[in-house]
Amino acid sequence: MKTYLQSIIYKNTNIDILRLDLLHPDIQGNKYYKLKYNLEEAKAQKKNILLSFGGEYSNHIHALSLAGKVNNYKTIGIIRGDKPEKLNNTLSEAAKNGMQLFFTSRTNFRVLRKLVNENELEECEALLKTIVSDFDLKTHYLIPEGGTNTFALKGTQEILSTVDVEYNHICVSIGTAGTIAGIIASSPKYSKIIGFPSLKGDFFENDIKLLLVKISNQEYNNWSLQNNYHFGGFGAYIDSLVSFMNSFYDTYKIPLDTVYTGKMFFGIFDLIDKGFFNEKDNILAIHTGGLQGIKGFNEKNGNLIHY
Ligand SMILES: *Cc1c(COP(=O)(O)O)cnc(C)c1O
Repeated sequence: MKTYLQSIIYKNTNIDILRLDLLHPDIQGNKYYKLKYNLEEAKAQKKNILLSFGGEYSNHIHALSLAGKVNNYKTIGIIRGDKPEKLNNTLSEAAKNGMQLFFTSRTNFRVLRKLVNENELEECEALLKTIVSDFDLKTHYLIPEGGTNTFALKGTQEILSTVDVEYNHICVSIGTAGTIAGIIASSPKYSKIIGFPSLKGDFFENDIKLLLVKISNQEYNNWSLQNNYHFGGFGAYIDSLVSFMNSFYDTYKIPLDTVYTGKMFFGIFDLIDKGFFNEKDNILAIHTGGLQGIKGFNEKNGNLIHY
């Protein structure tokens, strides 16, 4: 896969952006890397149905539907919450890509998430059969919410392999932390990785540590989190974020999404304003994609986001 870097300048500080959003129009950004080895593993296990979980605006669900279509797998999405009267853009595109959608209560969803993450497959199968009647572990390949598992970690460790410039700061957005864990494990020692959680919570540090242990026994101390740029959570937004994203787009012609990359760039610019970086720092910001979500956001909130 070919990736490319685009440099922007803000207040005399240069930022190189790794445009993973341009990898592919639909299987965008980090989700391409997270799915890559899961698709191989499903094939190795001779399973041709990929089943995963997500919220109704999930980039992962959207990417999975397309990966299935392009690579000839059937796909099933288990979506959190009641079935809406009208599918939003994310889900209607997933359905158009051939994904079968099943809606389940928040409680069920939470239980399933836990069972999948803890690899409690028998209990998981029993519960999934109540949602997808012909569910069978022999034919269905399970991928956790957000796609984060050991195969995803193998993929996210490849993200930096296309970049040969040396950076002392690498910025990345965080959801389930599979991407930042791969970046931390594959970055050179002199790079400091800065994670921007898109949700409010104090669990990220622990989640990252648990994922790093799955990659290697090595200790990694070259990372830190910036916890003040979640804007209230996944679906939430505030006007200052929207106006930042629009002025970013108008200035640099780079679209951002409201859930992840918009918040991260807001954070990076705010840190520059506060003197966190040195003008001589070599900064890499990873544009993890997620642009499919803009249409759904604009549908719901009025056409707020320029892209
Ligand atoms: C899923 C996603 C993330 C978060 O990745 P994790 O591996 O879950 O931390 C970041 N940015 C975008 C655009 C995403 O779609």
